[in-house]
Amino acid sequence: MSQQIVLGNGHLVTGWENPAVIAGGAVAWQEERIVGVGPEAEIRQAYPAARYLDARGGLILPGLVNLHHHFYSALARGLDPGVEMRDFPEILDRLWWRLDRALDPDTVRLSALLSAADCVRWGCTTVFDHHASPSCIDGSLDLLAGALTDAGISGVLCYEVTDRNGPEDAALGIEENLGFVDAHADDPRVRGVFGLHASFTVSEATLSAVAERRSSVSGVHVHVAEHPVDDQFSRDTFGATPIQRLERHGLLDSRALLAHGIHVEDRDYDRVAAAGSTIIHNPESNANNGVGRLDIPRTAGHGCAIGLGTDGMSSAVLRALRFAFLGLRGGSEDPTLGFKDLPGLLATNARVAGRFLDEPLLGHLAPGAPADVIAVDCPPPTPVTSANWFGHLAYGSSEAPVRHTFARGQVVLEDFSHTTLDPADLSSEARVLAPVLWKRFHELDWNTPYLGPSPGAGKESLR
Ligand SMILES: [Zn+2]
Repeated sequence: MSQQIVLGNGHLVTGWENPAVIAGGAVAWQEERIVGVGPEAEIRQAYPAARYLDARGGLILPGLVNLHHHFYSALARGLDPGVEMRDFPEILDRLWWRLDRALDPDTVRLSALLSAADCVRWGCTTVFDHHASPSCIDGSLDLLAGALTDAGISGVLCYEVTDRNGPEDAALGIEENLGFVDAHADDPRVRGVFGLHASFTVSEATLSAVAERRSSVSGVHVHVAEHPVDDQFSRDTFGATPIQRLERHGLLDSRALLAHGIHVEDRDYDRVAAAGSTIIHNPESNANNGVGRLDIPRTAGHGCAIGLGTDGMSSAVLRALRFAFLGLRGGSEDPTLGFKDLPGLLATNARVAGRFLDEPLLGHLAPGAPADVIAVDCPPPTPVTSANWFGHLAYGSSEAPVRHTFARGQVVLEDFSHTTLDPADLSSEARVLAPVLWKRFHELDWNTPYLGPSPGAGKESLR
């Protein structure tokens, strides 16, 4: 892959923070690194021997980053749990905690491949996955890493440690994280972070063990206050909010990735901001689960960094961004919101990914940056400028397909066709394995004793 590539004939946006916009722009790279960005005529003159790819007038953007995904949810589509799920605790107990226990190595691998293919399809070149497969913990992260490598994209992986399946599984989860983080400490494409499920399913003993054992590992990736049950159970059982528990154990630091962060008191947002931790907004998942919505202006007002994830709902980051934008306006009944706080989500994603992968220029189209580049198939009907690029994303390109995806210089999607994975083959294999997985799912009990409030406890009683 020593060839040079030039991607041109597009409206090029150089990044997510005060970007330059170059109409008729092009980007050139050699192997894994960008070597030139500018007007197309200049770039083609500078790299006359390069292979040329055409963005067909669409947007040329840095590859997208997803800060919170669950590959293991890929085979849940269409699954009937066969029992009513009245609130989020019941959704966990009766759907997700049965599905993750039913996973075996084959379905873990296939779920990861399907999700990685979907990331490629939607222009995501770096994905943070939060994994659970209690029946096959050991080696599960290697299966995910293999899928990322096969797809050609980068990622930061973790296993969600929890006590809900007993202390032995919690210990296995700790080992899985530590082993993976160590093995991938210098891997340029796939790294590890320490995964925790959520405060309300992690005991004090386990949290202490994590704090002690992870001495060389910076950062935890954990669900925080997705639903009031997490906050209430933590206060009742441990005498502290989820954020305070993380802080007490020394786990609230600049690499802490806090998914959701919805039901959080003001003082805890201050703690998050002071620690430099990142809250990850997952707007589509929050709506799907009916758990409330992150108040972005309030959270940002406390100085918290806010990133964006899809939480297993899909792999389409720009669509999640549009949903965040409309959800903020609709939920707040305020059409003035969005343009101030939402562009920063993509910038935060790129900054966090760059930190974890030791790539400070990740998320920028600039010489020296990793050649993670996409072309979104949305020839803009109006001028794109450094002042209005976010409007083009929110109102236009978030709904457009991605024409090309390049990850570290490799062509992984060209003119809508995958070059690494074959989604049709993967789906056909999945339609054979999914019914077997679902059969195991239906044979599992759905009463998980660890969950605090009784199933169906009303939201009122938990607030
Ligand atoms: Zn999640």
